[in-house]
Amino acid sequence: MSVFRPKMYQKDIFKIDYQKLKKSGYKILIFDLDNTLGSVKDEVCQEEVATFLKKLKKDFIIYVASNNHKNRVKKFCDPINCKYISLSLKPTRFGILKIKKQEKFDYQEMVIIGDQILTDILLGNRLGMLTILVDPVLDFDLKVTRLNRKIETILKKKYKIKRGSYYD
Ligand SMILES: [Mg+2]
Repeated sequence: MSVFRPKMYQKDIFKIDYQKLKKSGYKILIFDLDNTLGSVKDEVCQEEVATFLKKLKKDFIIYVASNNHKNRVKKFCDPINCKYISLSLKPTRFGILKIKKQEKFDYQEMVIIGDQILTDILLGNRLGMLTILVDPVLDFDLKVTRLNRKIETILKKKYKIKRGSYYD
């Protein structure tokens, strides 16, 4: 299986079947921030997302892992009481290792959910996590992301990555 291919691909975080994940034994959900939990323009978490994450906390340990700087991630995560890793350096395992040390779960019990194949999905697949791709919240990216988007368009075509598909 290609490291670029997500195990699942859904429109957004609300469309994921979390009950199925729970039944399958997954314990930790690691969300990307920019364009996954909110747009890059959302300084704080939208109420709809905050309420949703709060519900998920009953069944999972929730983390936000972002490559963005600490001020940005802290401002988003602190008000909603969410644990986070900033400057996560995805697709390296740097940030995820911190989560692994804190929570003592195996990668096989973790799910990574994000909008970028070249960071979120590549990292999760390399480590053996369940990987879920979502569409970007907004069609507006940080400068560093724009080249990645072009590459992702090519990858989606090459690997026939279509929304709603499951790759086992
Ligand atoms: Mg992102």
